[in-house]
Amino acid sequence: MEKTIKTKSVFFNGYFYPESKPLLPILDRGVCFGDGLYELIRCIGGKFLLFTRHINRMRKSADFLEIPFLYSDDELLETAQKLVKINEIKDGELYIEITRGNAPRYHEFPEKAKPNFFMVLNPLREMPDGCWIRGVKVITFPDIRWSYCHFKTINLLPNVLAKEMAKKGNAYEAFFMRGDEKGTYFTEGSSSSIFSVKNGVLRTPELDNILPGVTRDAVINIAKKLNIKVEERRVYLKEFKISDEVFLTSTVSEVMPVIQMDKKKISNGKPGFLTLRLQFHYKKFMQEHFQ
Ligand code: PMP
Repeated sequence: MEKTIKTKSVFFNGYFYPESKPLLPILDRGVCFGDGLYELIRCIGGKFLLFTRHINRMRKSADFLEIPFLYSDDELLETAQKLVKINEIKDGELYIEITRGNAPRYHEFPEKAKPNFFMVLNPLREMPDGCWIRGVKVITFPDIRWSYCHFKTINLLPNVLAKEMAKKGNAYEAFFMRGDEKGTYFTEGSSSSIFSVKNGVLRTPELDNILPGVTRDAVINIAKKLNIKVEERRVYLKEFKISDEVFLTSTVSEVMPVIQMDKKKISNGKPGFLTLRLQFHYKKFMQEHFQ
């Protein structure tokens, strides 16, 4: 029997197109300058996890960059739901990008550009076998990024390099490090937020030039509800090395135990108790907070 290969449909500037169609012109500011923003939202059973929070984060960044955000939350949700239907993808990752639009290649903001906006629903990526149960390895990497990491811009080259180094080191993620007068401290992963546990206290880097992770925020709130003490502050490498547990969070990774950093084993190479407890509660939370 002949097999029909279904082409994925994507949303671009108000219309649906096959994914294979070239849509972004060479003059797009995102293509030329990385002048744009993105979001990644989890799709579970055809619904979207914390949709409004993700869109709010995008709106804030768009305001800062003075990129007009032309769609309402309802319009975006409706479009996302259409992508679920057309593409028959129920468990996936919704990628949304907005750029400043098309204009001749001069650095300053163009007078008349209209933003380019697109949405793609991809099936959930494959994850390493048993990673949530066994935990993952991470490497450390210098935080060579700029000072506006709290905006989710498409300028991701340092993150790309860090993740590639992780891959070459057979690790799942790279943790970015910076330095101050007190020593080396952690900021976040190349695409995740970082947590550690010491004597039952949860620690995570404060929101100081890092992305305000939607999962990070949810996990902090869950921990507080469980009466777990949470400290949002700089976490130094020397503290990290003696922490009882480490985990990372993101839309895709959820609550992911970390059992090794560079050559150093963490919590005897096994996921910690508090990590697994938060992982369980976050799974439950995911089933209750979609739109
Ligand atoms: N930090 C960075 C640099 C990221 O790219 C991501 C993933 N978007 C995160 C943290 C985690 O954010 P979220 O929980 O909103 O997915």
